[in-house]
Amino acid sequence: MASHEVPREDRKKVIILGSTGSIGTQTLDVCERMGMEVLALTANSSARALEEQIRKFRPRCAALRDAAAAKQLAAAVADLPVRIYPSVEELLENEDLPREATAVNAIVGLAALVPALICAKRFATLALANKESLVAGGDILLKTAKDCGCTVIPVDSEHSAIFQCLNAAPPDRAVKRIILTASGGPFFGMTREQLAKVTPQQALVNPNWKMGPKITVDSADMFNKGLEVIEAVRLFGVPADRVKVVVHRESIIHSAVEFEDNAVIAQLGTPDMRIPIQYALTYPERLPSPAGELDLAALGKMTFFEPDTDTFECLEICRDAVSRGGLHPAAVNSANECANLMFREGKIGFTDIGAVIRKGDSLTPEVGSFTVDDVLSLDGEIRKYLFFGT
Ligand code: NAD
Ligand code: MG
Repeated sequence: MASHEVPREDRKKVIILGSTGSIGTQTLDVCERMGMEVLALTANSSARALEEQIRKFRPRCAALRDAAAAKQLAAAVADLPVRIYPSVEELLENEDLPREATAVNAIVGLAALVPALICAKRFATLALANKESLVAGGDILLKTAKDCGCTVIPVDSEHSAIFQCLNAAPPDRAVKRIILTASGGPFFGMTREQLAKVTPQQALVNPNWKMGPKITVDSADMFNKGLEVIEAVRLFGVPADRVKVVVHRESIIHSAVEFEDNAVIAQLGTPDMRIPIQYALTYPERLPSPAGELDLAALGKMTFFEPDTDTFECLEICRDAVSRGGLHPAAVNSANECANLMFREGKIGFTDIGAVIRKGDSLTPEVGSFTVDDVLSLDGEIRKYLFFGT
């Protein structure tokens, strides 16, 4: 029986937060091909794009964070039986959605944290593409998921790879090191003098992946790899000094795990996010994918380099934050959200990003434990300080 012929009650039920973005639209592509039922769609402010998705996928509810845009959307889809909410949180708190559903969190930034927590409480599976929520409040999020019986499956390609490699591990895992691969971005091999002159347009192109604007700039300055080191620490319980970053220009090896016996298991594939997205939605099953087959002979060779952490300082900023612990990872994440936007808006240069992040982190109080409210209030303070100087 083809997937689209699966009886309605047996179809996989999917909720997509951030459905109009890069991961969100690719998730919808996977859902369409796999005949999955889309229950809810949410976005920030793009009423037209969300309306098109609603007309095509017929979810029972949708949300836009921007209240005026939500009103406009509600009027535009008044002919359809779909409830429109003025925020993701209101949708998740009020809509009667089945527990067995899988929620895909593809919102960008810290804005994904509270929705991720609600999903962990409400649904059986959380397919987590968003990494900022894990960096800023990962321990709280993963504990909530564990306590509520929600399985968290990573969508980020490196963490999906590690998750898959760990299937080869014994129950005590015997992990020696995680080898986290990085594309190196568009500015690989440049000096700081050259980097000082790069423009947002140049930073908004990644050699191997087509992604949303924030993560594309994070990949260019390697803050993304720093976030991913912390993401790996949170998800797999391995200390940061055992997460080794290696630049691999071709993005074919998506990451690897080295075990106690020095055997290394890696996951390979063409760089296509539909592979990890689909795996998160069908886990533990593997089903045919539209992503291209890997042709190693055509590829010819793969290259590997040590990251240049003197030139690309953001990776070390994240390592430093996770070793200091407490609210530092949350703080550098919030400060980076500001610095990344300032750079994209032409307000600071590319090589100023690190200094802006350190300035934001200087507000961080030293604490042992913290709550989600602490993370959100520090985020507000850092934004005020970096954007308005107060
Ligand atoms: P994107 O900018 O393309 O899309 C973001 C989505 O979130 C959009 O639907 C937008 O409307 C929504 N959104 C933005 N701000 C919001 C807010 N305040 N409240 C609610 N919704 C909001 O981003 P993306 O590239 O799809 O990335 C999404 C997440 O996935 C990020 O955390 C990113 O790091 C992670 N990720 C992305 C890729 C990729 O290939 N794009 C790969 C790995 C991980
Ligand atoms: Mg990644």
